[in-house]
Amino acid sequence: MAQVFAVASAKGGVGKTTTTANVGAILAETGADVVVIDGDISMANLGAALGIESPPTTLHDVLRGDATPSEATYEGPGGVYVVPGDTALSSYASADPAELPSVLRTHSQADYVLIDVGAGVSHETGLPLSLADEVLLVSTPERDALRDTEKTRQLTEELGGTVAGAVITRTEPSTPVSELATGTLAAPVLGSIPEDEAVRDSVAVGEPLSTYAPHSPAAEAYRELVAELTGVE
Ligand code: ADP
Ligand code: MG
Repeated sequence: MAQVFAVASAKGGVGKTTTTANVGAILAETGADVVVIDGDISMANLGAALGIESPPTTLHDVLRGDATPSEATYEGPGGVYVVPGDTALSSYASADPAELPSVLRTHSQADYVLIDVGAGVSHETGLPLSLADEVLLVSTPERDALRDTEKTRQLTEELGGTVAGAVITRTEPSTPVSELATGTLAAPVLGSIPEDEAVRDSVAVGEPLSTYAPHSPAAEAYRELVAELTGVE
């Protein structure tokens, strides 16, 4: 059975998509069978981050009942499988998130499935928190971001889900990472990803850091996060 992670925060712009794309690509590089799903059905951008531009069939087609999950799955960089969403606003209204479990069933034989969850607190963002085996809380160090991310921790618990821990992104050397995670988020630190311009550049070209800038500080930090998640040093 695949180990399913939801990569989540109620706050937008904190690094959920970046984390999903990079953790997925690094896991795939280690030889694991990995599927990343764009669960942000109102602002789909995971596909683009992994070089899948304008795919003919998307998660939205699956959620609308017009395609099978396999038809919406593409091979991305390093062999990571990607289920991209549709970026058109019109697709959002007709997509039913309740079909997400069928996508997970299709990929249940993978080693890892990562769901990039949308921002906000709603039925559609709550569903992946309860479907996942473990939730990775992603936040930048700002107080507002941490407070919003804390809501995701609460929601996860209310829905009977499990929080694995926190990934603090865009950190500076002086950021008190463990204090922020164990304080506001009440979750153990799984990783700390430094502010790194290679992140923006890699997203712009649609490549993960592992191929675009493998020795960048953020790439190294994502590798450490993956080691923490898989228990491999
Ligand atoms: P979310 O999915 O939570 O909305 P994204 O992953 O799209 O967030 O990231 C939001 C923005 O922050 C993007 O422009 C991305 O390039 C930038 N970003 C994310 N992580 C870092 C980092 N470690 N260093 C620099 N910029 C980052
Ligand atoms: Mg995102």
